[in-house]
Amino acid sequence: MRKTLLSLLMAEVPDNEKISLMAKEYGVGDYSRFHMDKGNECIMCGSCTSVCPTGCIKIEVGYGTRKIWNREFELLKCSVCGKHFITKEQYDYINEKCEMPEEPVCKSCKQIEIARKMMEICEL
Ligand code: SF4
Repeated sequence: MRKTLLSLLMAEVPDNEKISLMAKEYGVGDYSRFHMDKGNECIMCGSCTSVCPTGCIKIEVGYGTRKIWNREFELLKCSVCGKHFITKEQYDYINEKCEMPEEPVCKSCKQIEIARKMMEICEL
């Protein structure tokens, strides 16, 4: 089981030092039967980086971009404050599940808007 998991991980991140070391330790040599192409499915939500037990999944943060699985994503800007905050792929994915505002709005601006509405309601 461990060998299979390590084979999968080697197919996923062949250049990772920690995974390579573990694969060597467990005698995992051939992982060619697994063909991973995460780049096409990934929406760059970042969840895998927060649960990876070895911390080997990294996100490279650039100006208006994020890179993971050897794929670079452009970030959308908040329509209120202009801060880059979400990939188009993640925005579209969430939009499919639940309706999002037509223009992307970041969490901070949403909170400010909600607070403003609450104040309006309380003043009535
Ligand atoms: S960033 Fe999100 S979508 Fe991409 S591989 Fe990690 S968990 Fe999956």
